[in-house]
Amino acid sequence: MKIPERGVDRDAIFDQLATYRRGDTPWKEGRTFGYVFDAGEEVDAVAKRAYTQFLSENALDPTVFPSLLRLENEVVDMARNHLNGGEDAVGHFTSGGTESIILAVKTARDHARATRPDIETPEMILPVTAHAAFHKAAAYLDVKPVVTPVDLESYRADVNAMKAAITPNTILLVGSAPSYAHGVMDDIEAIGAVAKASDLLFHVDACIGGFLLPYFRKLGSDVPPFDLGVDGVTSISMDLHKYAYCPKGASVLLHRDRSLRQHQLFACASWSGYTVVNPTIQSSKSGGPLAAAWAVLNYLGDEGYLELARGLRDATATLVDGIARIGDLRILGEPDMSLLAFTSDTVNPFVVADEMKTRGWYVQAQLGFEGAPANIHLSVNPSNVPWTEKLLHDLAGAVEAAKGVELPDISGLTSMLTSGDVELTDETFGQLLGMAGIDGVQLPERMAEINGIMNALPPPLRERLLKAFINELFIPEPRTA
Ligand SMILES: *Cc1c(COP(=O)(O)O)cnc(C)c1O
Repeated sequence: MKIPERGVDRDAIFDQLATYRRGDTPWKEGRTFGYVFDAGEEVDAVAKRAYTQFLSENALDPTVFPSLLRLENEVVDMARNHLNGGEDAVGHFTSGGTESIILAVKTARDHARATRPDIETPEMILPVTAHAAFHKAAAYLDVKPVVTPVDLESYRADVNAMKAAITPNTILLVGSAPSYAHGVMDDIEAIGAVAKASDLLFHVDACIGGFLLPYFRKLGSDVPPFDLGVDGVTSISMDLHKYAYCPKGASVLLHRDRSLRQHQLFACASWSGYTVVNPTIQSSKSGGPLAAAWAVLNYLGDEGYLELARGLRDATATLVDGIARIGDLRILGEPDMSLLAFTSDTVNPFVVADEMKTRGWYVQAQLGFEGAPANIHLSVNPSNVPWTEKLLHDLAGAVEAAKGVELPDISGLTSMLTSGDVELTDETFGQLLGMAGIDGVQLPERMAEINGIMNALPPPLRERLLKAFINELFIPEPRTA
């Protein structure tokens, strides 16, 4: 495509956009478990109105648009009240969980640079279940991830292993409330005690759980302490674009106090343009996500969120029971919130995921890792609530169907790839993708084969394959099918 010589008619533009999205996952139908956290059309309308009203305002400079400063301070105030932050807690609105996490790691790194300048290679201790965003932060900020195991029954962080992994270079401990993959909570109080005893910073990743867990607690669920009220916790991240149902581009990072927050900030007066002082990674940024988040929080209120939480809690319980009753499936750990993962010892979970897709469901395949088997993940959201019985019915059917599916034997291929005997070039990975039916034009309907190959490879090779995939997928002038 080239920029058209003459502007295109407005209707034609929107017709074309509508055509483009025809192949997208139909999340509004309630059969997609993840990616879009949907609280229905009314909430959506409020969010969109606020979003478009502030779409063009720039949060680059809080003195130019005081409304944005006020909105951010009010959103952060709601967040810190929700998470027991107390009067000293401060924070910022960010574009998402990943940005909140990168900034939490930057805070820890720069805090260490200021207070422990002897450290040359800073380390952070991550349970294997910690979100990939910490590895991204590690890669971007040159902090070494020290990965510790989790208990393979509960999938909760092994706190003793974390303690044992502390070295003179450790700057940060991390716990999840809950983890994304299996939806279980780490023992935040115990990790907090370790952090305190060793005088270390401790970030709680409550990106997915921070907003919802207090409502589960109000409904009577047993939710252990996980927030800034816990001794030793120095920062916490909470996404608003998940269970607060705000449009994407909405998360909050909170610090225990301002002396810690200063390490998050970036200022630059060493160039010839306007002075720069940024709390976040983005500099120019739309006021839309912030205004929409403020609007949705106010529109739903505690009562609205509590009702939605009730639906999620009941639906999750129905799913956990129902899945456990499908003989071939078992739930991993004991889900603490509204996320769950299940596996099978008799059928291939990747084939089950494909079979679900042919039945109109989107469920997420997760690869096996460090003793945790390959599995299927569900993030339950309000639009899924009316669909639980139907999902369980179709899941039982998908499991039966999966028993009849024969996948080609890939053991020769994977042992060749892992043997070290062949040089693995970008071409090799391209060929591998081609064999799995991925050619840069469209994705195959069935993903079990490529997931199977990935699952059999060690993580570094998985990562190379993933990069090869993206390198293949994003080609400006698409080759037509
Ligand atoms: C979603 C999530 C993240 C990353 O957030 P993004 O908004 O996708 O960048 C981090 N941690 C947990 C536990 C999450 O669920």
